[in-house]
Amino acid sequence: MGRTSGYRAKKADKEVVQGLRDALSRTPAYEWQHAQRLMNEIIDALGKPRGPMGGRIVPRACKVCHYFGHTKQWCPVLAKQEERKAIAEVKAEREWMRKQRARDPHAERHRNAGKHQGTLYDEIGVPWTMHPAGIGPFPCSYLGVEGGMGKWVRGADGTVKMALE
Ligand SMILES: [Zn+2]
Repeated sequence: MGRTSGYRAKKADKEVVQGLRDALSRTPAYEWQHAQRLMNEIIDALGKPRGPMGGRIVPRACKVCHYFGHTKQWCPVLAKQEERKAIAEVKAEREWMRKQRARDPHAERHRNAGKHQGTLYDEIGVPWTMHPAGIGPFPCSYLGVEGGMGKWVRGADGTVKMALE
């Protein structure tokens, strides 16, 4: 309705158009005259008029890879670049973490062990503080000190109270 041509692409024509599109996608930007010819053939094969007043639809080459047939948004070269960049970022992150661990192989283990040990002392009601040698939480009674860094504190007389009471 309303169409002047009443054209419907037949199977053979679709194959022709697909072939022309494939050829266009293999055309680099500097072969723009060839690209224009292919575009005209595609438009003819689709049975469409060549734009208003006989004007031509000008094919545009991708701004990234400089090939016709797609825009930057669908560029396989750009997609590959982005993928490589993402992989490189993950690798750099892993490398950084590896170096951090290599610099102080015990730091992370002590942090985790310390966290775990302190929580354990809290749960069983033992006041604890960090050992002055930096080897993690120890009971205040063991170190012979008052106070504590956890949920419980040790008084001067050895009594245990909840912290912040
Ligand atoms: Zn491209």
